[in-house]
Amino acid sequence: NLKGKTALVTGSTSGIGLGIAQVLAEAGADLLLNGFGDAQAGIEVVAVSGGKVLHHPADMSDPQQIESMIAYAEREFGAIDILVNNAGIQHVSPVEDFAPERWNAIIAINLSSAFHTTRLALPGMRRRNWGRIINIASAHGLAASAGKSAYVASKHGLVGLSKSVALETATTGITCNAICPGWVLTPLVQAQIDARAAESGDSEGERRNLLAEKQPSLEFVTPRQLGELALFLCSDAAAQVRGAAWNMDGGWLAQ
Ligand code: NAD
Repeated sequence: NLKGKTALVTGSTSGIGLGIAQVLAEAGADLLLNGFGDAQAGIEVVAVSGGKVLHHPADMSDPQQIESMIAYAEREFGAIDILVNNAGIQHVSPVEDFAPERWNAIIAINLSSAFHTTRLALPGMRRRNWGRIINIASAHGLAASAGKSAYVASKHGLVGLSKSVALETATTGITCNAICPGWVLTPLVQAQIDARAAESGDSEGERRNLLAEKQPSLEFVTPRQLGELALFLCSDAAAQVRGAAWNMDGGWLAQ
């Protein structure tokens, strides 16, 4: 039960972040959402659980906006007990053609933002001697695919950051872990299916191909399933899960 706890989920106006926010809210947490697009729609989805729900529009590539968001959270809610670093973007290109500004944006949003939220939220967690930091990495935090150099580097980095923070908090009531999802059918993945279908003209076939290449179950993981894993990591039962990179990937990483 997360009553009385506040969760900040970055990039929670869509996809996995919204699914995690929903599950944490249903468990009783108050929520600070973040992300671009239709914030009101996200608030309405999460608010049905009855807790306090706000949204902050910080751009996760900008450390100053991240600082404002953390200050806003502590002002409005009094604490950040659960920090879910989920905001992320993708770009697919061979490394020699990879636009340097895309590389910088991916490292900033997928990796550096988690460094900033963590360093800013930790002092409050230490004061209360309780906290959960959950970093949404990827199967690409533990294995690579061609064409995704920046994404793979950022997600391997995020797994490493999770381990370091777990060690620095090992004797406290704060845990830090990474979740490594396989394919989840969100706008981020639909864009990759669309890019492949632009060549073949077969969207349904490309969706099947995408799964068949990596995910032995041939089924997508759902945002709600990832939310339930995050909820478990918030529980007392998970108090000694520290520095883990926990895959939920339809068997991707078993190969
Ligand atoms: P999505 O595109 O549906 O959602 C991304 C969210 O991040 C949105 O709310 C968006 O507004 C927000 N966002 C993007 N750039 C931002 C920025 N600069 N500042 C603040 N918010 C920003 O994507 P998703 O598939 O739900 O991905 C969520 C996370 O899960 C990402 O870190 C992604 O790498 C990871 N992931 C996704 C999959 C998958 O198959 N979909 C698999 C493994 C890991």
